[in-house]
Amino acid sequence: MSPRTLGLSETVSQYVRHVGLREPDVLRSVREDTLQLPGAHMQIAPEQGQLMAFLARLTGARNCLEIGTFTGYSALAVALALPPEGRVLACEIDATYAAIARQHWQRAGLAHKIDLKLGAALDTLDTMLGDGLAERFDMAFIDADKESVLAYYERCLALLKRGGLLLIDNTLWGGAVADPADRAPETEALRALNSKVHADPRVEMVLVPIGDGLTLARRVG
Ligand code: CA
Repeated sequence: MSPRTLGLSETVSQYVRHVGLREPDVLRSVREDTLQLPGAHMQIAPEQGQLMAFLARLTGARNCLEIGTFTGYSALAVALALPPEGRVLACEIDATYAAIARQHWQRAGLAHKIDLKLGAALDTLDTMLGDGLAERFDMAFIDADKESVLAYYERCLALLKRGGLLLIDNTLWGGAVADPADRAPETEALRALNSKVHADPRVEMVLVPIGDGLTLARRVG
């Protein structure tokens, strides 16, 4: 079973997928291939990929940004939802995962819609901002190392157009953020992010308890 929504029993999760999940075959094959890898727990739940694709279509997104690509499931889910001219710029620091992601996109016939930037995402984002690409993107998805999540948040906000949509993954972190005794650096970083977004007048926000928690923040300021 691939990662599922936090707090749902196996039975309910299976029911949600039975009556709720529409997963294209090209995505299903990425998910099933990734289940064989040691980092499989990092893959998003398929219903979350479906929500992201839904939001991309709903908002008419064209230029999308992704921080943390892993084996390419979420970038492919979004690329499938974009119009022909739509593009995903995907940042990944791990060359092995990047190569696997590229293979998946090629097999799906969507590689031309996804531009992969290999390297530290903060460097990639700072370079883009330095190159004058602020307010360029319609949608961004943050799902990389958690200790840098606030830094990614600030840069992604700057790169988003006004009205653009930011999605941040793992904001419930297996429930650890709600446990004050958990002082792990990743937990502290996500807790700080959650407080920041909640109080941030630059965004409209909602924390959706799907997968491991997905915060939606729409840039309004
Ligand atoms: Ca994640």
